Amino acid sequence: MHKFAIACIFLFSFCLIGQTDQRIYDIMSKVSAERIKKDVTTMVNFGTRHTLSDTISYTRGIGAARRWVKSEFDRISNNCNNCLEVSYQRDLVKKEESTRIPKDVWVVNVMAIQRGTTYPDRYIIMSGDIDSRVSDANNYISDSPGANDNASGMAGTIEAARVLSNYKFENSIIYLGLSGEEQGLFGGQGLVKSAKEKGWDIIGIFNNDMIGNIKGGDGIISNTDFRIFSEPVPPTETERERNMRRFYGGEVDGISRQLARYVYMNVKTYMPEMNPMMIYRLDRFGRGGHHRPFNDAGYAGIRIMEAHENYTQQHQDIRVENGIAYGDVLEHVNFDYAKKLTSVNAINLASLAWAPPAPKEVSIGGIVEPSAKFQWSKVPGVTGYKIYWRDTTSSTWDHSRFVGDVSEYTLEGVVLDNFFFGVSAVGKNGFESVVVFPNAILK
Ligand SMILES: [Zn+2]
Repeated sequence: MHKFAIACIFLFSFCLIGQTDQRIYDIMSKVSAERIKKDVTTMVNFGTRHTLSDTISYTRGIGAARRWVKSEFDRISNNCNNCLEVSYQRDLVKKEESTRIPKDVWVVNVMAIQRGTTYPDRYIIMSGDIDSRVSDANNYISDSPGANDNASGMAGTIEAARVLSNYKFENSIIYLGLSGEEQGLFGGQGLVKSAKEKGWDIIGIFNNDMIGNIKGGDGIISNTDFRIFSEPVPPTETERERNMRRFYGGEVDGISRQLARYVYMNVKTYMPEMNPMMIYRLDRFGRGGHHRPFNDAGYAGIRIMEAHENYTQQHQDIRVENGIAYGDVLEHVNFDYAKKLTSVNAINLASLAWAPPAPKEVSIGGIVEPSAKFQWSKVPGVTGYKIYWRDTTSSTWDHSRFVGDVSEYTLEGVVLDNFFFGVSAVGKNGFESVVVFPNAILK
């Protein structure tokens, strides 16, 4: 046994803090580029997966595609003693609702829930999209391979389910295949509506949309750069909360941003060869994705995607024009890269699914004192809490202190005015919750 491991047995709770966990490396090593390639190929071979395409055929159209996604989740579940609850979630979208819905259509999502052992009703979600499109958003006839947009994200989600279904987690994980994305985010909207009705406690969603292209329209080729999009603050905040920010800060510290920082930090720890780029915005300029319906409802959600998009390979009829081959075809997907971004998801799903709930109420104080004071609501079954802080201009939580299983703490000599602060809960297994930005003022 390694010396460090022996020390860990004696100092169990302490030595886990800030250390890595072998299971996370195991998870990374099990993600397969070959299987992702096979699944993307299968999805491309459905010809089109347009939301309004054929639903009867077994070989072509959105119906065949979603039944295949369900059958893959079912197969994975069979291999893990029925550890996944696989189901469809559907809503009828009327043609009056959008110019991109030329006829009434059932938008059907597929989901697989891996039930948590301690917190079965808390969910961390990974999503990809089943549907695809070409140049005309309403063309549901032409071939629309959507290999990168977004068979890559869907295949990554299925692969994450394959790998993680071999483990047991405290929290539930949902693997989600959404539809209706290209017609106006209808699948995500339907799913969120149903989640609200069921009162789901959602830790957050990782929306994967285009995780397979490494050759950018900007001429840059990189198989390590990728982007994490997160909105600054939830659109559901109250007028009072918005006003309070002027005095207490928090403009760049909403719940989705904390989720983005969590993913960023975990990648830096376990996959230092990667280059995660935190992008401080909801999504690309003027464009959308399926994390947005979740954000709209006040849930934390981020978009994980390639850094260098190629616009001749998105939403394009397959054709050659002026010597340029247009189309989102299989040949342009880099499966080793898709595997890496799938690993990014898998290690973060696992880390959060193994982590305790974050403290809900976190108060901060220490006005006109040379120290920062904190108080928070305790979380059952944790080994303690970690206070984080950073320069106000830094994007990452650069400093931290593990403070044990207490519900208040004073950071002596740290002036409140000069930093931003947050608190996380650390489980007995060493896994950590998302950082919570203080949401109350200490009296
Ligand atoms: Zn798209």
